[in-house]
Amino acid sequence: MKQTMMANVLHGVGDLRYEEVPVPALKPGEVLVKVRAAGICGSDIPRVFVNGTYHFPTIPGHEFAGEVVATAPDVDDSLVGLRAAVFPLIPCMACSSCREGKYEMCRHYNYLGSRCDGAFAEYVAAPAWNLAPLPANVSFEQAAMCEPIAVALHALRHTNLKLGDRVVIYGPGTIGGLIAQWCRAAGATEVLLVGNSASNFDTAKALGFEKLLNSDKADPVEWVLQQTDGMGADLAVEAVGCAATFCSCLLSARPGGSVLAVGNPHGDYLLPRDAYWQILRKQLTVHGTWNSGFDSSDKNDWRTVLAALSAGQINADALITHRFDLKGLADGLALMRDAAEPFNKVMICMD
Ligand SMILES: [Zn+2]
Ligand SMILES: [Zn+2]
Repeated sequence: MKQTMMANVLHGVGDLRYEEVPVPALKPGEVLVKVRAAGICGSDIPRVFVNGTYHFPTIPGHEFAGEVVATAPDVDDSLVGLRAAVFPLIPCMACSSCREGKYEMCRHYNYLGSRCDGAFAEYVAAPAWNLAPLPANVSFEQAAMCEPIAVALHALRHTNLKLGDRVVIYGPGTIGGLIAQWCRAAGATEVLLVGNSASNFDTAKALGFEKLLNSDKADPVEWVLQQTDGMGADLAVEAVGCAATFCSCLLSARPGGSVLAVGNPHGDYLLPRDAYWQILRKQLTVHGTWNSGFDSSDKNDWRTVLAALSAGQINADALITHRFDLKGLADGLALMRDAAEPFNKVMICMD
């Protein structure tokens, strides 16, 4: 077993170094995962360039899959060789949320790739509890998309989306696009996507979504009303994280409909009174969502995602627009930060 490995280590805000570090030592309950694919999350951009991680140095990267190569002495060593995705949140197991199995709302969690070392490295140490074994026909790259696909599923599971529903999604990025795929799989008859000039509509088109609107060119609320016989959408999804699109969601939802708030807010939300009125007058339900679920049920978000990937219900491959090797992480991050070209998921791939 190697003693050192290459890793992208964040030493301070904007100070990411590709360097040689010790292979992580295993604590009780942990396994060593050789990382085979790790996606760059939208949240990694502010994490690396603006806010930093919780302490320095930290190896970022929380959307990943790989192969178990070693186990701590107290862990079943038959796990060696297991191909797995890894739930990045390490719950405290003691708070009221954890006792209910709602680990995504844990109040004292640890997190691979932000609060402790993550996956933009050759190896990562993770609790065996966090492993989600891969079906044989799911690739490491597909499995590295498990986290965002589970986040999208988790979001939608808060709603009461029904067969025949009409949905509008503001923000056709990775998560918005995945919510669109889940809506279609769940039997929505109309999935409308609203983006702007910076959006990568090509991925959505490749996935068969044809009703796309560039909101820089036309009024999205009018368009949604037109597309829904003047009624509005049963469900309006906010996957951008800004007040203007949240208002558009309130205006786009039909009476009695719902709004799903997904996008991490980029700033304060000041809502015009007329937009707020929509919640009252149309008796809207506004759903919040956070992270993804990893409870013990056989239909938890991650198991459902892996089954859907295996069955071909969700297309992860089409979302991967760029690939870099481990050393190329800085280039991938810069590409996303500068939006130098249209992108969806930027993936770090390792042998
Ligand atoms: Zn993420
Ligand atoms: Zn907890």
